[in-house]
Amino acid sequence: MNTTNILFPSNIFHDVERTYQQLLAPLYGEAEVRQFVRLLAEEYLGWNTTQLLLRRHESINQSDLLRFHWALVALQQQRPIQHIIGHTDFCGCRIAVNGNVLIPRPETEEIVLRTLQRQKKHNDSAPRILDLCTGSGCIAIALKKALPTATVIAVDVSEEALQMARRNAADNQVDITFVQADVLNPSALATTLQEISHPNPYSLIISNPPYVRHSEKAQMHANVLNYEPAMALFVPDHDALCFYRAIAAFAAEHLSPQGLLTLEINEALGEATAAVLQGSGFSPIVHNDFRDVPRSIEAVKQ
Ligand code: GLN
Repeated sequence: MNTTNILFPSNIFHDVERTYQQLLAPLYGEAEVRQFVRLLAEEYLGWNTTQLLLRRHESINQSDLLRFHWALVALQQQRPIQHIIGHTDFCGCRIAVNGNVLIPRPETEEIVLRTLQRQKKHNDSAPRILDLCTGSGCIAIALKKALPTATVIAVDVSEEALQMARRNAADNQVDITFVQADVLNPSALATTLQEISHPNPYSLIISNPPYVRHSEKAQMHANVLNYEPAMALFVPDHDALCFYRAIAAFAAEHLSPQGLLTLEINEALGEATAAVLQGSGFSPIVHNDFRDVPRSIEAVKQ
């Protein structure tokens, strides 16, 4: 690239920052752009938040300047910042992401933290955990990291997602068994799992399955719609709870007594999702997330 095309007036970091605000704040708002600059400075320059304040009048070298240039162009095209950087943080674990997996969300992190608190109170020395629709592997990895004595099995239908999940487990140095299977077919799932592991029941089944109805697309941002995998997000309007029915049917048979089922849910479908679980013999409790909308269901097997 000819450097005269570079978007910044100089190599001084402050000018880079100012240009980011000028060009991106109309699209994202100032606070989010500050966050992008913070993440990129950490990734490209190794600067923490304090260094960012102290060193903003320094100039950066030409190759770093180019990286900031290309990141800005990508952000103008609404590419997710996590794709530009290549990874994100989930419960303190570094999770690599690409277009084959859903980018881990803070609301999912909240669910994992609550589940961990519960598991720790429970004092189970050898929990058996099953994560369905694992995607990047973030839930399974965070659980195994916090509960090293647990046996963790994680399932996804997508081989490409499983590749990413395996890489993330290796990067985080945790031992997880990954299995390719379709959660929508609970009896085939049971057979596949029996083939690879001992047939004991699970003490925790957890899942963040696809739950966004096609009719809800209109409310979604371009950075999600254009860059995240549709198969991890969408369900048909006429059968929006298909994953929950399949998971409830599987869990009714394969969860141990007093075992816990934890599911992320569509905020508009709390009651309907709870009804599906009741239909499979569970007594579900709906929890709100930090935005105060229904975001998860916990159900203990009686
Ligand atoms: N919370 C995600 C979103 O709204 C959807 C996650 C999912 O479908 N499981 O983008």
